[in-house]
Amino acid sequence: MSTTDIGIDDLPVREELRGKSPYGAPQLDVPVQLNTNENPYPLPEALVERITERVREAARGLNRYPDRDAVELRTELAGYLTRTGKYPVGPENVWAANGSNEVIQQLLQTFGGPGRTAIGFEPSYSMHPLIARGTGTDWISGPRREDFTVDERAAVDAIAAHRPDVVFVTSPNNPTGTAVAPETVVALYDAAQRARADAAGALVVVDEAYVEFSHRPSLLPLLEGRPNLVVSRTMSKAFGAAGLRLGYLAAHRAVVDALQLVRLPYHLSAVTQATALAALEHTDTLLKYVEQLKEERDRLVAGLRGIGYEVTDSDANFVQFGRFDGEGGAHAAWQQILDRGVLVRDNGVPGRLRVTAGTPEENDAFLDAVRALKSSVG
Ligand code: PMP
Repeated sequence: MSTTDIGIDDLPVREELRGKSPYGAPQLDVPVQLNTNENPYPLPEALVERITERVREAARGLNRYPDRDAVELRTELAGYLTRTGKYPVGPENVWAANGSNEVIQQLLQTFGGPGRTAIGFEPSYSMHPLIARGTGTDWISGPRREDFTVDERAAVDAIAAHRPDVVFVTSPNNPTGTAVAPETVVALYDAAQRARADAAGALVVVDEAYVEFSHRPSLLPLLEGRPNLVVSRTMSKAFGAAGLRLGYLAAHRAVVDALQLVRLPYHLSAVTQATALAALEHTDTLLKYVEQLKEERDRLVAGLRGIGYEVTDSDANFVQFGRFDGEGGAHAAWQQILDRGVLVRDNGVPGRLRVTAGTPEENDAFLDAVRALKSSVG
């Protein structure tokens, strides 16, 4: 390569990408990593064996392209949703991609794009606006209350004012952990359809990446009679398979048909499909870890409150806590916790940090670190 020192902005990149930064949760080599909402438990050995078997079988056919429509996988995912979501869905209602990030990207490629607008209620998942930007979709930052819940009236007003093509509702929300009531989702859905009565309505995406950890049931039954509603899910959290990269959604079959217009052919490799199918055979075992993590999440909430922190109620596998209003704010506290060997996440929410529920030992290490921090700052 030439030694000339050129940067991104010296290249003919799209105007809206100039001066921007990529998604960047730090990946640091620290003893206790509680920063990216992963599941701390490695997959059980019996599942590792089953993955090996399934992948070996798939390897024999790697000279061919994989099943483009991932029919077996979508059938199994539909079965999982029907069993756990209290709402019957078939493979024609399910779509899968490489992580729910790709699911969201395909949704925005289909229903957003240049000249179109998406809204989310912030603070929320930082990739929603980044994927909007990547697909040329304008982003509107909608409001939340001081306690980080969605203010239904303010949200309905924002939808009426901006008339978005796509509405994101993240429940439980990242990074705050707050769930959204079904009546609120219905109110936002109705507002979005009213605001875009000139088009065929607006798409409402309920991002349920963390729903298995919630005290509340899934919003899946809201799909009934709502063709512009989508529920997106992932195997990265509850299934403990962030490295697999498998996200999926449930929606009216017409939404799934529309996504075929933008998906790359054979986007889900045969190895991915085989691995996900093996994991789905072990759903019951994996969901037992979820129960442990929910208990640990509740212990973190109680522990942090006991130490004197302000904690946002959580329905996810992480907890938002603060307040760090002193010198350096949340970032200084993040560094001090890191200095004690524990990596948490500074999501840029003023005065707050987020910690992912880990193993009991990791959570103890975290609680020790934040207790020491509290006594050092008084
Ligand atoms: N939605 C939310 C709310 C998330 O927090 C995340 C992961 N951090 C995702 C979607 C994406 O997950 P994945 O691409 O691993 O499925």
